[in-house]
Amino acid sequence: MATEQAEKQGANGEVDEAQIQEQLGIEAGDTTFSLELSQDQQDIRDWAHGFAEQTVRPAAHEWDEKEEFPWPVVQEAAKIGMYGFESVAQFWADPSGLTFPIVNEELFWGDAGIGMAIFGTTLAVAGIFGSGTPEQMVEWVPQCFGDENDVKVAAFCASEPDAGSDVSGYRTTAKYDEANDEWVINGQKAWATNGGIANVHVVIASVDRELGSRGHAGFVIPPGTKGCEQGAKVKKHGIRASHTADVHLDDVRIPGSCLLGGKEKLDERLAKAKEGKSAKSQAAMRTFELSRPTVAAQAVGIARAAYEYALDYAKEREAFGKKIIENQAIAFTLADMKLEIDAARLLTHRAAWMGKTGKDFDNAEGSMSKLKAGEVAVWTTERAIQILGGNGYSREFPVERMHRDAKIWTIFEGTSEIQRLVISRAISGVHIQ
Ligand SMILES: Cc1cc2nc3c(=O)[nH]c(=O)nc-3n(C[C@H](O)[C@H](O)[C@H](O)COP(=O)(O)OP(=O)(O)OC[C@H]3O[C@@H](n4cnc5c(N)ncnc54)[C@H](O)[C@@H]3O)c2cc1C
Repeated sequence: MATEQAEKQGANGEVDEAQIQEQLGIEAGDTTFSLELSQDQQDIRDWAHGFAEQTVRPAAHEWDEKEEFPWPVVQEAAKIGMYGFESVAQFWADPSGLTFPIVNEELFWGDAGIGMAIFGTTLAVAGIFGSGTPEQMVEWVPQCFGDENDVKVAAFCASEPDAGSDVSGYRTTAKYDEANDEWVINGQKAWATNGGIANVHVVIASVDRELGSRGHAGFVIPPGTKGCEQGAKVKKHGIRASHTADVHLDDVRIPGSCLLGGKEKLDERLAKAKEGKSAKSQAAMRTFELSRPTVAAQAVGIARAAYEYALDYAKEREAFGKKIIENQAIAFTLADMKLEIDAARLLTHRAAWMGKTGKDFDNAEGSMSKLKAGEVAVWTTERAIQILGGNGYSREFPVERMHRDAKIWTIFEGTSEIQRLVISRAISGVHIQ
């Protein structure tokens, strides 16, 4: 054995990998597992990073202070092909599933409020993709984005004033007017990203209250529909460049064709639900699991931004005659920040890859990624403030904004408690309350 090993080593003792691979029957480049990004993924990442660094980051403070929707920045994004139907389709097309999370991480590294202003539309687009027919996708998705000369946004309206986590509590109703082949929607939606400023609103409404969440359906509200109005705009703790508002739906009449998935499919689904079948909606759970890694990647981007800022600061700032990073208390914190961010990214990429390659989310891996990344973003940004000391608490430095922004990642798209509920149910098979 020792002689064999010696033979595999050259005169200087180096291992001849090619020879070992040949003996083991491994062809060059034949790897079954790799964490390396492809050249295409690296190129898109660098391009997204450039936009985040040169356009998004310099605008972050201004739009956070103004608390207004940054239309000029979204227009810039549309001009370079970061925002729009084609680009999002291209990001999604990557068979590994990683490109969209990668782009999200870079954009939200630039700024989370502006990032949400740019990618909030994809929530509505995901709603259309999740339940719409191919014809509905072709008709409505381009109208969600507009084009570079006339940029539009879209809103996904599910949450209500009295029902966020508890989706079975939605009170918004949709009634079918058979004589006119129209749906009539009434209710109030809360916290809608882009609510009221959107060209297209995707609304979740109850068509049969007795069936709880199984009696829900998704509807597209076309641009300019009467009765669909913005309510109060929410003044927020963070992501203040992103527009969040109530949406009032008063006798909103829409064509029958605006029911996502179509009437026939809805009737079939309702009939099954009434018979007590399909009580457990695997399809709905899969939809959430698929979208969560993208949301997780946004949180990873915020955490990374705060970590990088704090690392640079710690290498410059002096106290007691030395750089503050020379203290273990600071250096170990930075080590933990880096560790947590990388762990969150690995969970995120795993879940994105599982979704795209059709793997079952047996342990709710999508929820795992969102839970971990959201909590890492909150913890990391808080630590960054601590490392910057008084400056960290000042609006002159960006980490306090990052901390305010990060908090929403443990609340929207399923709170941390709801993610834990989903994971614990998935791993146990027990209906944990
Ligand atoms: C900035 C922002 C943007 C948003 N954008 C959108 C959007 O575009 N579209 C949309 O539809 N919604 C949106 N939301 C709404 C968001 O998804 C909800 O706020 C979120 O789902 C939580 O619902 P809730 O606020 O009603 O909290 P609640 O459901 O009332 O929860 C309150 C607390 O109780 C906990 N809790 C509830 N149930 C349980 C349980 N069973 N076990 C343990 N803990 C529990 C929760 O985790 C939370 O801590 C947005 C919200 C914000 C703040």
